[in-house]
Amino acid sequence: MAKDTLKKMVSMKSVTPDSGGIFQYIESLLPEFEAEYFNRDGVENLFLKKRFGDGVHLCLAGHIDVVPSGENWKYPPFEATEVGEYIYGRGTQDMKSGVASMVEALKEVKDFSGTLSLLLTSDEEGDAKYGTVLVLEELKKRDELPDFSIITEPTSEEKMGDVIKVGRRGSINGTLTIIGKQGHAAYPKKTVNPVHLFASKLPKLAGHKFDLGDKFFEPSKLIITDIRGGLEVTNVTPETLKIMFNVRNSTKTNLEDIESFVKGVCGDLKYDLKLSQSSKPFRTDAESRVVKILSEVVEEISGVVPKLTTGGGTSDARFMGEYGIPVAEFGVRNDRIHAVNERVEIVEVEILHKVISEVLKRF
Ligand SMILES: [Zn+2]
Repeated sequence: MAKDTLKKMVSMKSVTPDSGGIFQYIESLLPEFEAEYFNRDGVENLFLKKRFGDGVHLCLAGHIDVVPSGENWKYPPFEATEVGEYIYGRGTQDMKSGVASMVEALKEVKDFSGTLSLLLTSDEEGDAKYGTVLVLEELKKRDELPDFSIITEPTSEEKMGDVIKVGRRGSINGTLTIIGKQGHAAYPKKTVNPVHLFASKLPKLAGHKFDLGDKFFEPSKLIITDIRGGLEVTNVTPETLKIMFNVRNSTKTNLEDIESFVKGVCGDLKYDLKLSQSSKPFRTDAESRVVKILSEVVEEISGVVPKLTTGGGTSDARFMGEYGIPVAEFGVRNDRIHAVNERVEIVEVEILHKVISEVLKRF
């Protein structure tokens, strides 16, 4: 049962990038799959693969690492305590339920149209430098990239089954420094005050929408995260004013759009602008086979019509997106991820297991 596999994995402590022996455990559960390890800098990744026929390559993917537990838990975070309808423990929602469901579904599969694989990393919650992306790089070199991918991250919100993620917004960070000339507050003519120069321009930046979004994406909006200038005294005017901001961007807005907008706002002020993209936006077509089959099955099994969204924080799906692999994410509710007393409702694990098994049959 997926529940037992989940409990076993929760009891194997795997705080990033430590895999806690989980990979060897999973490998032993799927002896018919060819196993390959990709390790670098303390990060372990396991890639399991089995070829059934000539058809498509579907890759189930996820992470076995968890964030640290923190204190004041009702039950020990690395023991998987079953209480009524729930299992408590770090990783029960994010995302050992997902991994257990995929493993159980793969254990049962008798037949498939092409190749099935399972890509697991121990570095999703960390900086993700040598995790999923490293395995995809290797697969690309061998011309073995999957045709489709499903990741069982916890996507459900209010009810099990209500959300499938079909992409993600990107994230662009900016630092704008307005340059002035420091001086005595009593002699303003001898100073160039960057706060005064920029004051009338600030409302143009704050909350600016670069696009209106669409059915899948929220508008790309400029969010100011920090403003500072001066020496925290009342008799010196500042030399510079530094404004930091972030834009979670849809596929309609890119770094160049943001750059030209901010430059336009600054006009002929003296300034320095630095922008960097920490992740790129992507979206899988709602008509893609992976999205259609997954939506259909989720609705049938959970009884809830899933919404297709792109909200929330990043996940390894972005790497699939970057390699052009159509990817969809679906999993249990996420109300306690990374929190104290993380727990999962057992029925949700059972539903997820059934969903993955059924998707494999229809793919
Ligand atoms: Zn996760």
